[in-house]
Amino acid sequence: MTDIGTNLASIRQRIAAAEARYGRPAGSVHLLAVSKTWPASRLREAFAAGQRSFGESYIQEAKAKMAALDGLEVEWHFIGPIQSNKTRDIAALCQWVHSVDRFKIARRLHEQRPAHLPPLQVCLQVNISGEASKGGISPAAMDTVRALADAVAGLSRLRLRGLMAIPAPAEAFDAQRTAFRRLRALQEMLIAAGHSLDTLSMGMSNDLEAAIAEGATIVRVGRAVFGERRMKDEG
Ligand SMILES: *Cc1c(COP(=O)(O)O)cnc(C)c1O
Repeated sequence: MTDIGTNLASIRQRIAAAEARYGRPAGSVHLLAVSKTWPASRLREAFAAGQRSFGESYIQEAKAKMAALDGLEVEWHFIGPIQSNKTRDIAALCQWVHSVDRFKIARRLHEQRPAHLPPLQVCLQVNISGEASKGGISPAAMDTVRALADAVAGLSRLRLRGLMAIPAPAEAFDAQRTAFRRLRALQEMLIAAGHSLDTLSMGMSNDLEAAIAEGATIVRVGRAVFGERRMKDEG
């Protein structure tokens, strides 16, 4: 077995153990392999080990890998910051976008989603820890989250699935859980307001157990699958 195969097996075990421990149904947490910075050959290894969904943060980089993996049944999730001039490619090439945080971007994705494809599945990104450096809607403004959800739900070429967050790194398990619990509370608020949402995209290599404890349905795992990311200048 390759390293990536071994890594995937061990993450699947971590997920299964957390599901069992926190009373989540077996198989209710989906593993998204975050493949940003890694070449297509590594994605092929993961594919050979049964991985089918991949998360990318830079659409130019993703396009090259999509071309290299053409013909394989892969589901592409866009998880990075979105600039207006990138929405056309994202709308045409991805099945999911986790990082929608303003209406202007949502409307462009809706307008540019090709008619022959099913609606693009989206999550709204919430800046749950309030870090200035991070993208996402500020949850301090609950009304903003609600207003954006209402507006996005009205776009027929998008299907609003839920919320995504990247909390500030925390060592302690309880601190990790606290941040994820806040995202879940926001999701519950939106559901109470009439939205039908089934996705909480939260949890990464270091905190996926805490996220699963708080209801994650997609964990986005990079380093624990592929290893430490290479710096850009290492080529
Ligand atoms: C890079 C990245 C991840 C993966 O983080 P790891 O710590 O490598 O597991 C998850 N989500 C987003 C949005 C990312 O940019």
